[in-house]
Amino acid sequence: MKKLRTQVGIVGAGPAGLMLSHLLHLEGIESIVIEAQSRSHIEGRVRAGVLEQGTVDLMRSTGLGERMDRESLRHRGVYLSFDGNRHHLDFRELTGKCITVYAQHEVIKDLVRARLEADGQILFDAKHLSVANFESAPVIRYQQDGETYEVACDFIGGCDGFHGVCRPSIPEGVLNVFERTYPFAWLGILAEAAPSSEELVYTYTDRGFALFSMRSPSVTRLYLQCSPNEDIRNWSDDRIWKELLQRLTTKDGWAPNVGPVLQKGITDMRSFVVEPMQHGRLFLAGDAAHIVPPTGAKGMNLAIADVTVLSRAISNFYRNGSEDLLAAYSSTCLRRLWKVQRFSWWMTAMLHHWETQNEFDHRRQLAELDYVTSSRAAMTSLAENYVGLPLE
Ligand SMILES: Cc1cc2nc3c(=O)[nH]c(=O)nc-3n(C[C@H](O)[C@H](O)[C@H](O)COP(=O)(O)OP(=O)(O)OC[C@H]3O[C@@H](n4cnc5c(N)ncnc54)[C@H](O)[C@@H]3O)c2cc1C
Repeated sequence: MKKLRTQVGIVGAGPAGLMLSHLLHLEGIESIVIEAQSRSHIEGRVRAGVLEQGTVDLMRSTGLGERMDRESLRHRGVYLSFDGNRHHLDFRELTGKCITVYAQHEVIKDLVRARLEADGQILFDAKHLSVANFESAPVIRYQQDGETYEVACDFIGGCDGFHGVCRPSIPEGVLNVFERTYPFAWLGILAEAAPSSEELVYTYTDRGFALFSMRSPSVTRLYLQCSPNEDIRNWSDDRIWKELLQRLTTKDGWAPNVGPVLQKGITDMRSFVVEPMQHGRLFLAGDAAHIVPPTGAKGMNLAIADVTVLSRAISNFYRNGSEDLLAAYSSTCLRRLWKVQRFSWWMTAMLHHWETQNEFDHRRQLAELDYVTSSRAAMTSLAENYVGLPLE
């Protein structure tokens, strides 16, 4: 077995793991990131795309902003559409903050490049990874090219997503799980079509929810609510476009531009939290600790928020020998996380068609949308959550 040593061993090269490694490096702290997939796989994986103002500010202040500032799309707000009419919510005017559309895999490319240019270690294609001894002297074991490795470290960053190994390695009885599944999923497509709206359009119809969004000036990203058991093979490109046009077209004639479908897939909707987000010297961050339904565009932003808190705590430990911030990591993250969970659940509940819904519920949902698009107080509440609540 080959033995390696670092200060912080990080499992997973998603936004959480890579940003943690980057932030630690800026504080002079060494880390090794160990990833199951290849570099090309993680750099091509299409997922989220909306950055909160805090995420954008962090990218800029840590030297990652140049390409994002050149290529991203800055949005003042979003549209909520119902009863065939679009209503604009101007976040900039309501909160002074914006959102930025920049695909998650572009953030990943920027982070990978920054780490490698700084001689950071990202070990790709690591198989059979396990974590151990995180209550005393943590180690990460994995195999690469037929060879077995063991990384000894002071701390482990469990940044390996919802299906990773870090969370399940914590002994039974330590974690409390809070979970909610939804009786619908999202069928998402990436299409080669110029966006016909400069900003996202969230649509409630009695056929179900639909979302118009974009990833670049020539690529649109669209979603429609479907059954959680839906088989993507039953959805031809024609059927998808027909359904999207039916749900998204508004009375003033606005509709998405139609173009070739580049990718399609179905995403489950789930709310999930474990408490606490740490055990011994293992710290869970991002999807490893929590999942939100994508309606509030929060998954990637939460991952970045967690590791911002974690990097400060680890840095405080090495500088001052204090474990106070490390001990408070979970409670600091969870206080903000639960508010983000609430917002993501609320957006989901307001905008989706529920199987059990009757005419009363339909009218109540329309009234809620009417309120949220006409009361300045309600619009401001939505806006301040969407652009991102402050970190403590
Ligand atoms: C299919 C999908 C679509 C999504 N779409 C949207 C969207 O449209 N809008 C939105 O807001 N959010 C979306 N999200 C959520 C958002 O992308 C996530 O919240 C975000 O990726 C979380 O970052 P993370 O670093 O915590 O985890 P991840 O990005 O999942 O990164 C975890 C990393 O760990 C690696 N890993 C896992 N297991 C191991 C192991 N055993 N050993 C080593 N490495 C391992 C994985 O390969 C991965 O690279 C989507 C998520 C998924 C899964």
